[in-house]
Amino acid sequence: MNPEIYILGSSSATPTRERHPSSQILKIGSEKIMIDCGEGTQSQLIRFGIRHTNVDYICISHLHGDHYFGLIGLISTMGLIGRKQDLHIIGPPPLKQIIDMQIIHGGMTLKFDIKFYPTNPARQEFILRNASFELSSFPLKHRIHCTGFLIKESKKERHLNMEAVQMYDIPMSFFKSIKRGEHFIAPDGRVIENALLTSDPEPCKSFAYCSDTIFDPEIVDYIKGVNTLYHESTYMKNNEERASLYFHSTAEQAATIARMAEVGHLIIGHFSSRYDQLEPLLEEAREVFPDTDLAEEGEKFEITAKKRMLIHS
Ligand SMILES: [Zn+2]
Ligand SMILES: [Zn+2]
Repeated sequence: MNPEIYILGSSSATPTRERHPSSQILKIGSEKIMIDCGEGTQSQLIRFGIRHTNVDYICISHLHGDHYFGLIGLISTMGLIGRKQDLHIIGPPPLKQIIDMQIIHGGMTLKFDIKFYPTNPARQEFILRNASFELSSFPLKHRIHCTGFLIKESKKERHLNMEAVQMYDIPMSFFKSIKRGEHFIAPDGRVIENALLTSDPEPCKSFAYCSDTIFDPEIVDYIKGVNTLYHESTYMKNNEERASLYFHSTAEQAATIARMAEVGHLIIGHFSSRYDQLEPLLEEAREVFPDTDLAEEGEKFEITAKKRMLIHS
């Protein structure tokens, strides 16, 4: 199954009647990753019927409140419902202290461990890998320590060609190593090349999340060729000066980054509360990068290797 992105929040600094601060859920392999957790994220999970019991990873891009003020509420709920499995939190170093302080002074008792992974705003860093995905962070230029995230499906096993396997009389106990790409060495010493026994797996899909950032072409190297890119788009072109003053981007600039990075699909979000209608932002971006969509709350996007599909749920 292809990875999917669920949009929970798409507003910038303040919520509006229609929009909540940033949060998304990426379903990838057997895992769910939450990316940013603005105020109201728990309510949005309930609203869209997404369970948090199996969210084991939460990535926080930076410590502006619209990206993490929902986090302690979610941790508290996880404690109240008796969560036991580890929660992995990835974010700027001070986040660890903030969480610890809230837990201690709130008298919270948790039956699960929080494993914390600090991000580095100075350079791209590998964070972790498991059977479903590998995760790294990369620097963004914002007013405070801020990183984006690059998440790729983990390397998949090669497909076994059952006809070939039977023809060469290969015992089942070797299937695992052959699927990993190893050759088969017969008892008589003959080497059966892996290419004769397997075919390529599905390509690994990738997703990049560019949270708050000024227009910064240096990002392109980190996100080159990803299947789906989320990039903030707080303002429209006629507010370009304001965008750079506050270290944000316009819809046109987000689309320019998508075009430069030759990504498959662009999702724009983090819209300023000044915009009631989002169509003009979409049009502005599509003039530069046609395969763009709005991060509208409740939308689900499938990440595909070829042309992406948009699913309205
Ligand atoms: Zn923000
Ligand atoms: Zn910010």
